[in-house]
Amino acid sequence: MKFQSKQNNVLPIRSFTILLICCLAIKLSLCFSSFPSSLKTLNVEGHFSFDNNEFAARDFGNRFRFIPSAVLYPKSVSDIATIIEHIWQKGPGSKLTVAARGHGHSLQGQAQAPQGIVINMESLDRQEMKVHTGRFPYVDVSAGELWINILHECLKFGLAPKSWTDYLHLTVGGTLSNAGISGQAFRHGPQISNVHQLEVVTGKGEVRVCSEEQNADLFHGVLGGLGQFGIITRARIALEPAPKMVKWIRVLYSDFSTFARDQEHLISLENTFDYIEGLVMINKTGLINNWRSSFNPQDPVQASQFKSDGRTLFCLELTKNFNPGEADRIDQEIESLLPQLSYIPSTLFMSETSYVEFLDRVHAAELKLRSKGLWDLPHPWLNLLVPKSKINGFAEGVLGNILTDTNNGPVLVYPVNKSRWDNRTSVVLPEEDIFYLVAFLPQATPLSKENDGLESLLSLNKRILDYCEEAHLGVKQYLPHYTTQEEWRAHFGQQWEVLVRRKLAYDPLAILAPGQRIFQKAISTS
Ligand code: FAD
Repeated sequence: MKFQSKQNNVLPIRSFTILLICCLAIKLSLCFSSFPSSLKTLNVEGHFSFDNNEFAARDFGNRFRFIPSAVLYPKSVSDIATIIEHIWQKGPGSKLTVAARGHGHSLQGQAQAPQGIVINMESLDRQEMKVHTGRFPYVDVSAGELWINILHECLKFGLAPKSWTDYLHLTVGGTLSNAGISGQAFRHGPQISNVHQLEVVTGKGEVRVCSEEQNADLFHGVLGGLGQFGIITRARIALEPAPKMVKWIRVLYSDFSTFARDQEHLISLENTFDYIEGLVMINKTGLINNWRSSFNPQDPVQASQFKSDGRTLFCLELTKNFNPGEADRIDQEIESLLPQLSYIPSTLFMSETSYVEFLDRVHAAELKLRSKGLWDLPHPWLNLLVPKSKINGFAEGVLGNILTDTNNGPVLVYPVNKSRWDNRTSVVLPEEDIFYLVAFLPQATPLSKENDGLESLLSLNKRILDYCEEAHLGVKQYLPHYTTQEEWRAHFGQQWEVLVRRKLAYDPLAILAPGQRIFQKAISTS
């Protein structure tokens, strides 16, 4: 009896222990059903890293941190395809997601994969940069290549890409997933308008070559597609003859509508400048004095009498490309263009520099900021696309009333022609033929409770967004960031259905680019 009763006590404990182990095993197999053991058995030329992956949870925005379970350093395209196909084959039973990481210069964790796999695109074999000369030159590059490296390689053949970003230490895959906009976009369109062909690994692990003629839906979807439909592994980029030098010009306006009208006039001309951008200066002191280190005033006496202090000013920035021997002709062209503009005459400043130095100008600023430990601060940036008909209202409401100074970072304002964009791509644009890129690019001072603190800058962004919404300005975010699917739906508007159709076609399990937070991977526990 005693024995019996002992047996009775032991049985439930044993059953409970077995049950517990079973539950744990099921739980573990749910959490790690495809990871890490099965991934470790895959045949890849590159390698995985399971530790010290904090870098993959950081980006330029320096606000979001999601640690991945592993980082893949691929050597070949087939490494990427193998991993994705493996996860795809696991079906909805696996939680794993995959984010391509270019140079990690996203602002809100877009290249991060919480407990998923980050693919370090820069480690893809980059031997294969091939420049094709001829009547319509182009270069084939790995998507993990930095634009600065492409520039240097193409210059060996006297060629260069046509469309740029202001900063070149970004990868091809990273900018093509957004758009790639700079002061050349009014003429050439963004970088996504200057690509002939892509190689893409879809969310099913298929490797597809796509272009206007071949797999066109995938091609257009991936361009500006926020990484949702595939990982770009290779791109064919249009080139043009590269100039050796640029004439670089800055002039100031005190009236926004005159500044905007002149910008619009310049982008409407056939024979105009090669680069057109604008900057807002609110409450800046010693502005012109700062320019003097690299720019020469046209009229030094008048320039020295100009006082910027306390005023809101708008700087038009222009360049004209040229080669040695063409300087006189280019000067004449500039002399015929400048009188068409209504800037403050005493504020005409000019400089001459090499094409490379001009294109890589932000890197020079980066080096200075890095030396002061200011490059790695949080960057609560806000980029907006504002329709032309609303830009004066936007300036009045935002630049006149909400923004009190621009001392925390630059504010860019310049128009582009929508006719240079392809409306079949995934990028979302305002409805008018001309729209402005308005970029608020501050850096936050850690722990500050003042205007330069993170909270304060984020609430400023919110006030700007609220104003745009309340005033029905038809503004779209560039490098968009939202936290709910409702907001994403509103962002995509009529394009939402196309986005969903493409997602179902190319990444139906929502394995790719989880950091954009548009779709969530559906997990089945059955
Ligand atoms: P990441 O941050 O690594 O990735 C960005 C997104 O693209 C992520 O969702 C990632 O998963 C996805 N992705 C990355 N590689 C691939 C790939 N191969 N295939 C598919 N998806 C991929 N933008 C402009 O348009 N114009 C500018 O002038 C400009 N200037 C900038 C200046 C600075 C200093 C910084 C920090 C950013 C600037 N940007 C500009 C924004 C920039 O273009 C984007 O942040 C871009 O995504 C950064 O590229 P990246 O290689 O760092 O991409």
